[in-house]
Amino acid sequence: MAAVKHSKQRQSIKEYLMNTKEHPTADMVYTQVRKFYPNISLGTVYRNLNFLVDQGEAIRLTCGDGSERYDGTTSPHYHLVCSGCGRVFDLKMSPLDHINTLAAAGFDGTIEGHTVLFHGHCPEWSKLVNITTNLTYKLCHNLNSFRTEKIISFLKIKIVIVTDIDDT
Ligand code: MN
Repeated sequence: MAAVKHSKQRQSIKEYLMNTKEHPTADMVYTQVRKFYPNISLGTVYRNLNFLVDQGEAIRLTCGDGSERYDGTTSPHYHLVCSGCGRVFDLKMSPLDHINTLAAAGFDGTIEGHTVLFHGHCPEWSKLVNITTNLTYKLCHNLNSFRTEKIISFLKIKIVIVTDIDDT
């Protein structure tokens, strides 16, 4: 009976990973799966995630900030971490297999693969930055004062609020 429950929990985790583009952390998976299994522990979530990764049914991504994220899309693809909101995005691009050859050319050992993580800003963040820049310019221009820094920090707070709302 316990085994059945456990495999259902694992199935639920797997389905969530396969149906989200969020590249969730274990905590995010935990929050999600608890909606269906309120008694599940974070430890069980971690165990199931490790199992899925070991079985090749999910990928573990180590992001620039050291956080680990999980991906149900197991076919080779590359990611971008948004320096603004911290979310992870899939990139539509061809595999960079030739860089293995480039690496092997200058190395006496064996190259088995590579890890590439792109950094930049997601479309929403880029839009926010543009709006903020324009708004700041207009405000500063109109006010014609020395309060530029105050306005910028105020708008940065606004951005944090906007993206927080966006995430939920
Ligand atoms: Mn992905």
